[in-house]
Amino acid sequence: MMGACNICGESLGAPGYESARPVSITSLCQVLEGYTRVWHCASCGHTQTAPLPALEKFYAEDYHILTASEEEDQLYAVREGQKIFRTEHQVSTLLAKLDLPPNAQVLDYGCGKASTLKSLCGRRDDIAPHVFDVGEQYRDFWNAFVTAENQAVNEVPAEWAGRFDAVISFFALEHVAAPREFVAEAYRLLREGGTFYFLVPNVFANTADLVVADHVNHFSEISLQRLLSDAGFSVREIDGTAHNSAWVVVAEKSDSDGMAPTTNSVADAINEMAEYWNEFGNRVRAFENASNGEAVIYGSGFYGTFIHACLARPEVVNCFLDQNPHRQRQALLEKPILAPEKLPETARRLYVGLNPRIAREELSAVDWQRELEVFFP
Ligand SMILES: [Zn+2]
Repeated sequence: MMGACNICGESLGAPGYESARPVSITSLCQVLEGYTRVWHCASCGHTQTAPLPALEKFYAEDYHILTASEEEDQLYAVREGQKIFRTEHQVSTLLAKLDLPPNAQVLDYGCGKASTLKSLCGRRDDIAPHVFDVGEQYRDFWNAFVTAENQAVNEVPAEWAGRFDAVISFFALEHVAAPREFVAEAYRLLREGGTFYFLVPNVFANTADLVVADHVNHFSEISLQRLLSDAGFSVREIDGTAHNSAWVVVAEKSDSDGMAPTTNSVADAINEMAEYWNEFGNRVRAFENASNGEAVIYGSGFYGTFIHACLARPEVVNCFLDQNPHRQRQALLEKPILAPEKLPETARRLYVGLNPRIAREELSAVDWQRELEVFFP
């Protein structure tokens, strides 16, 4: 069980969300054994998930391979006919928000392949890139643009303390069970006046983040401010709009006044989300029990996987449907993923496994040429 808040140390009571069955889904749609349990801390506005025992095995065996294939060339948006990829968008946002001095010493902390740092160096060849992560598996990626003495695995060299103009981190802190240590380390490695710049998911912009099993931390503006100011940082900016479904955070190692602290409670918003997910399984099963016949799930991402895990008789689902041509060549839970127009003749019921914000609009664009019973998330 969960003892204390990761951010402020307050003890936590009963979880606000608990999965109905001992089945949990990761952000990469892996199905793991164990209950997902989520707590909200009224004291600092943080929300957190108990780490699953099965996660250790997941990280050791699957996660790195999956992230390696996942993140390259992820399409972020299409603007005026131009495809914008996630890494490219992350670099543009960083350059717009940070004033990096010439020959800046930059460390990507918990960097994985460090593709954003690599792309940053492509735009600013004066930068001296440094990388840190646990495990040797990324060396080949790093060697392409980081000198050997600027790479660190498991332990940071003593002479790096106080060196950096910027410590950057992309989607790492949500996985970390001890975020205070992570942030204290970023502070220690920065020079006086240096900047800590990071991205984490914003659960308030994407409700599915609340129930993904591998995100231990679900930050709010309040809990981010608390985390950073406790470590000695002055918070310059917490931006919820610059990157889809993420917080973009800029903090400075200095005594200067930061932004005014946010005090609005997010407890109601989190409770509402927890209630939505607590009810979600019941709604799926009520629909399931209302009639018979073959079913399909529209959407092969997190929502589709989650619906499949909620079903009492998942064997009646014979395939997933997905618009994304890359997904159509794959399988999910040993079932094929087909283009929507390949809906099997025998299917009578359709579960929509899409973000509820876009589900009805996307479905209305498909002509099924027949009557279907449809479940909306
Ligand atoms: Zn707290």
